[in-house]
Amino acid sequence: MIFNGIDFDTYLKKFPDDKGYFGKYGGVYVSEELKRAMMEITEAYFTICKSSKFIGDLRRIRREFQGRPTPVSHLERLSCKLGSVQLYAKREDLNHTGAHKLNHCMGEALLAKYMGKKKVIAETGAGQHGVALATAAAYFGLECDIYMGTVDIKKQAPNVARMKILGANVVEVKHGLATLKEAVDDAFAAYAKEYKDAIYCIGSVLGPHPFPMMVRDFQSVVGIEAREQFMAMTGELPDAIVACVGGGSNAMGLFSGFLNDPVDIYGIEPLGRGTALGDHAASLQYGEEGIMHGFNSIMLKDENGDPAPVYSVASGLDYPSSGPEHAFLHDLGRVKYDVVNDEETIDAFFELSRMEGIIPAIESAHAVAYGIKLAKKMGKGSVLINLSGRGDKDMDYIIENYGIR
Ligand SMILES: *Cc1c(COP(=O)(O)O)cnc(C)c1O
Repeated sequence: MIFNGIDFDTYLKKFPDDKGYFGKYGGVYVSEELKRAMMEITEAYFTICKSSKFIGDLRRIRREFQGRPTPVSHLERLSCKLGSVQLYAKREDLNHTGAHKLNHCMGEALLAKYMGKKKVIAETGAGQHGVALATAAAYFGLECDIYMGTVDIKKQAPNVARMKILGANVVEVKHGLATLKEAVDDAFAAYAKEYKDAIYCIGSVLGPHPFPMMVRDFQSVVGIEAREQFMAMTGELPDAIVACVGGGSNAMGLFSGFLNDPVDIYGIEPLGRGTALGDHAASLQYGEEGIMHGFNSIMLKDENGDPAPVYSVASGLDYPSSGPEHAFLHDLGRVKYDVVNDEETIDAFFELSRMEGIIPAIESAHAVAYGIKLAKKMGKGSVLINLSGRGDKDMDYIIENYGIR
């Protein structure tokens, strides 16, 4: 399918280009030393990860350890209540550890193993990426250093405990505001020193090339499975697919399976409390082009041009930018990006729980909220929603802030 001058038959092989660009977005904006490390990973990716041995190992791990394939569920009662549009969910909440993040963490850690690295390094904000990577490190017997700000360590005690139980070393980052940004800085600095023995593992389709490509490719299992499953269940393609976008990895995973199809694709960002800067994290909706954390994309900036403070009820979505591929697909118009606010999200959280017996992660509830809106608007057809994770991690927050409805 040709869309806006791009042939989507060959898109996944052509983008990013050899320098790591999706159009003008992406690239490798890091120190010379780290550039060398990124080249090493890129080369390893194209040789090791494309070998049948690596692919065979990864497939076995996904089947025997992760519990893949995850199913697609027909949301029958919810669909019936809303009218005639049929809603379906790709159940990444049933992936081991309860979210899609393990899809790329197992891939990254397997690559580390093949490259002969001893350690994986990453930062984490809410702790979800840290837990997924600590899980992968435990599975492969790799050391694991997770950089985390003091503020986040205090807020995310259960995830800190999980990482430690899994054998990871949680490195406290105390300087500056002591949150995610400082943790990223320190993790990068540590990696620059240790890259001979260690590999950096990014938590989404973010960061310098090759990470946006690598994470997309590891997540593409979601879209490949979902497309096959949906066809087997209904005999046709969905009319629309929906995923929430923080950094954008669960979305790219689902979308990559459908980019070449006549399917409407929606990426949903968090509008939080409203449109004022600081009240949301809808970077593609309200941001502008800029470079941060080693890549060029669309980002929310403050008055000094630095990454702006952001907010979302879902801690996994509060990042001031999105992956470069999303910026590209946004400009192309192949994916439509839209927003839902906290209130719509929390309504959808309870609605899916009550109607279907599935408690979604608050991140995923953004996609559910939009799927519900679409169903009302479309009148007929089908919508496939990516349920990126389960809501167990959000129970305390929901009960404290919203009670039980
Ligand atoms: C981390 C997380 C997200 C956001 O990350 P993406 O890279 O945008 O997918 C979404 N859902 C869940 C459940 C998460 O844990």
